[in-house]
Formats: sequence, structure tokens, C-alpha cells
Amino acid sequence: MSVRVRMAPSPTGTLHIGTARAALFNWLFARHSGGIFILRIDDTDRERSTPEFEEEILGSLRWLGLDWDEGVGVGGPHGSYRQSDRLDRYQEIASDLIQSGAAYYDDRPSAQLESLRQLAQKEGRHPGYYIRRPDISADSGVIRLAIPQDAPVVVDDMVRGTVSFEAQDIDDFVILRSNGTPTYHLASTVDDVDYEITHVARGEDLLPSTPKHILLTRAMGHVEPFYAHLPLLFGPDGRKLSKRHGATSLSEFRDEGFLSDAVFNYLAILGWSLDAETTVFSREQAIEAFELTDVSKSPAAFDPEKLTWMNGEYVRAMSPEVFNQLVRPHVEKSVGRPLPHDEWARFEEIAPLVQERTKLLPEAGDQVTFLFNDIEEYDENSWNKVMAREGVPAVLDEGLARVSALEVWDAESIEATLREIPESLGIGAGKAFQPLRVAVTGSSISPPLFESISALGRERTLERIGRARQKLG
Ligand code: GLU
Repeated sequence: MSVRVRMAPSPTGTLHIGTARAALFNWLFARHSGGIFILRIDDTDRERSTPEFEEEILGSLRWLGLDWDEGVGVGGPHGSYRQSDRLDRYQEIASDLIQSGAAYYDDRPSAQLESLRQLAQKEGRHPGYYIRRPDISADSGVIRLAIPQDAPVVVDDMVRGTVSFEAQDIDDFVILRSNGTPTYHLASTVDDVDYEITHVARGEDLLPSTPKHILLTRAMGHVEPFYAHLPLLFGPDGRKLSKRHGATSLSEFRDEGFLSDAVFNYLAILGWSLDAETTVFSREQAIEAFELTDVSKSPAAFDPEKLTWMNGEYVRAMSPEVFNQLVRPHVEKSVGRPLPHDEWARFEEIAPLVQERTKLLPEAGDQVTFLFNDIEEYDENSWNKVMAREGVPAVLDEGLARVSALEVWDAESIEATLREIPESLGIGAGKAFQPLRVAVTGSSISPPLFESISALGRERTLERIGRARQKLG
């Protein structure tokens, strides 16, 4: 069988990481099996769907590297892959189902249906009990699928195993509203049939819809696809992932400086693993190993800290050239201006040390602004903690003398002379180097001191130590 899978976002919001994870698993499965990955846009909710959200979703998928073979934006043999273009098709199927007797019109007013629902509830029955095929034969109203009551519907799920639904627990659900618009169940099922989808992999929240889709597919005279219901994502506190856990859309992570490769890798381990020990792996490794049947059915915890850690792994694995190129816009943004070649060389001198300490590229910018901009304000905590101590003026005086006497200007020579300060003043290393660090970089958090001083240059270093000394009086 040649595999055909789809992802079907609704353009009613940005791309949620749960949806992105489902897209990723479909993509991995398609690439692993040499199949086709389809992008369909579920935009039947005309009020909430917007072209901006659609653009945002497509952009996020592209950023993540999930290319699609058929669908919106690339076309394909099945005409339009946008549901709003296919309303005629859904109406046609609904009337076919009326013709075949699988579906029926229901024109009972909603107040009547509501009291029937309440009656069922009072009797301890499924709310759909009295909403079965009515005696009256209407020729207008909503169209409902008549659920055959003779057998349970069994979902043979690739992740969850066998899940059985009693027919009496499935209501005769609406497929076409009285204004002629399809429900999600109808549009989604007709598309899956028309596009010859072989496997539907989607979030577990849709499992209750699956028996409806199976019955609808069968009523259309087709065999249902395989289903794989993916475990839901939870926040680190064990509750369902939501805004309260911080960023939840893919573009927010991109804008915060996360790398596509790292996000890809991290999403892949939410419910799946390459093997027992490997956490960091390439797209190629994932494609090679991915099987839907290996997806776990336990809920997966989405942990932003682990994603940040993983991003750091990817930053460290970059070649120096790639790191310098990617980090440059962030550095220039923090500095507030483009950096000409000779100034940028200052950054390049300490780039490897910055790369080691960077988890997110934008952070790198803040670490190094001291190389380019005068210190307008010292970091308040650092100043209070470090500079208010006794003995600091003597440290700065000695640092100043030693730096100006240096003959060779490089990190080694700077280190050699500054390392003599603790002994000469009879103080600990921290007490000697922390004030120098705050004086030179403005903060007690910075790249390593000697390399920072070397990259900053003699003149600027002397000026800064002098200025801090003055401020102390
Ligand atoms: N548009 C639906 C959603 O975003 C698609 C669900 C499905 O994959 O069937 O939830």
C-alpha cells in the first residue's frame, strides 16, 4: 500500500505545538514509508478562519521543515485542498446518503430536541437515545447520519490498540446543517475518502469522533483508513497544555530564538523515542526509525526547560562559521546598530566562548554588548554586591597599573599579570576578579574575563577601570 497521510489545520489561530507535533509525526511517517504528505486547510468555520492565520500556519510548517507533497500552496491531483472550496461536494455526499437511506432529514425544533435530550438523561440513557431516526419523514432541516444499532464500532488504533464504542453511545450526529454547511465530521471524512488517505494520525482528543468517521466512511461505500491517536501534551505541572504554561504556538518559539532543528527534535520525542538512550538526533535518523506503532499512549510532558536545553545542544554543535553568521543579527540588535568588519572582529575573538554559554541565540547578544557600547549603567545587583566591598579601590588601582604596563596584548598575558593581584593584595581570587569584571563589562555575568578584556582592547579597558574607580571615589 502506498501511504497517504494528511495534516488538517484550521486557520482559526496560530499553529499550536500540539498540532505541529501531529504534523511532524505524519510527516515522519510519510517520509519513512516513501508516502505522500498532504496539507489540507479545514476552513469551514468562515467566521473564525482568516488568511493571516493560514499564512502563519503554512510559514510555521515550512520553518519546521515539514514540506508537503500535495495540498494548499502546492496543488495536486485532487483539485482544491481547501474545505471552503468544496461545499458542493459535501452537499452532494449528504444527498447521496439521504438517497441510500443512511442519513435522514430532521426538522424537529431545537427546543424539542433539547427536551428529548433531558428526558434521556433523566432515564440514565445516552443523550442521543431519543434523537434516533424519527417517525416523521422530513424533507428539510439538518441531515443526520443514522447510526446502525446492530453492532459496536471497533477502532483498531495503531497507538491505543482496540477501542470499542457501543452503537447506543453514538448519537445520530448532524452531517449537514440546515443552511447547507457541513459539520467537521462530514467535511473531514469526505476529504479523507476523496484524497485516499490511508492513515489518520491525530490528537487523542478526536478519538470520540473516530467511530462517527468510520460509520460515515462505510456509509459512503468505502473502507476506513488506519487510525493512530497521539497522546495529548501536558505542561510540567501535569495539566493539559495551555496558555498558562507560556508560549504554545510554534511562531512564538521561533521568535524567541529557538532553532528549527531543535524544535523538530524536541517535538519528535513527545510521545516517541529513537531508542532507549538517544535524545538528540537528526531529521534523517528520525525518518529512518519512525513507526506510528512505536508511539506511546501515555501523555507526553511538554517541558520548555528541556526544549531550551536541547536548543543549547544544537547551538554548541554548530560550526563556528554558522554560529557567527546566525548570531550576528542578534548581537547587532542588542548593540543597536550594524557592526562594521573591524568591530565585529572583537566579537569573533571571543565567539567560541560565547557559543559554549549560549542556549538561545538572542541571549548571546546581551552577553557581548559591552564590547561595543560604553557602559551607561552598571547592573545594579552586580554593583551593589561586588563594588561596595572593602578593598575594591585597591584592586582597581592595581588592575589599572598592570593592564597599562602590559607589553603583549593577548588573553594569556592579561591572565598572567592579573592572576598576580590576589597574592599581591592578600585576597581571594574572586575578590580580585569580580570587581574587574563589573568594571569592564558592567555586570558580574559575562564571558570569561581575560578573553573579554583582550577582545575589548587596552584603551577601552583602561578607560572603564578608571571610570569605575572614579565612581567609587
Ligand atoms: N481541523 C481539525 C483540527 O484541527 C482536523 C482534525 C483531524 O485531523 O481530523 O482539529
